[in-house]
Amino acid sequence: MKIELIKGDITKIQADAIVNAANSSLLGGGGVDGAIHRVGGSQILEECVAIKNRQGKCKTGEAVVTNAGNLPAKYVIHTVGPVWNGHEEKESILLANCYHNSLNLAESLGVKTIAFPNISTGVYRFPKELAGKIAVDEVRKFHSDSIDKVIFVCFDDENENIYKDLLQL
Ligand code: ADP
Repeated sequence: MKIELIKGDITKIQADAIVNAANSSLLGGGGVDGAIHRVGGSQILEECVAIKNRQGKCKTGEAVVTNAGNLPAKYVIHTVGPVWNGHEEKESILLANCYHNSLNLAESLGVKTIAFPNISTGVYRFPKELAGKIAVDEVRKFHSDSIDKVIFVCFDDENENIYKDLLQL
């Protein structure tokens, strides 16, 4: 899989799937979640509500898929990152699960390109450097038949610089 870094807004990315850093209610929130629902429109939220009614809350580290409404993507994969409380081992595993489960779901949908935001590094306060390392490690060790490109979409300068170092760009 090819790995790319883009600085900017994930709602503008042309990829088969974009990943949302959702919360367990799946009912939208601030940050990247707010942007995806705002730009994508109500169709995404309607499907989130249906999923929640069917299977309950989305647990931390897990992922579900919806349509992408008005976004240029085909799918939105909603994954729930861990809130950073300083339990490094436990929370690192949960963050790794977000990337792994999102990639698995994308693979099962036959997705070729997938874009990730920097999950948990906003309101959930996960240390950015550690989060970046976990994200890149998980993607590098994932073997896929269908996904040929993973795009890390960094919104802030700090994450962009961290990913530039990690990806040696
Ligand atoms: P979390 O609750 O998982 O921390 P946030 O949305 O608060 O989620 O932040 C996750 C990351 O998404 C942060 O690094 C933030 O800068 C970034 N972000 C916010 N808006 C966007 C956007 N429109 N596109 C891509 N990334 C975004």
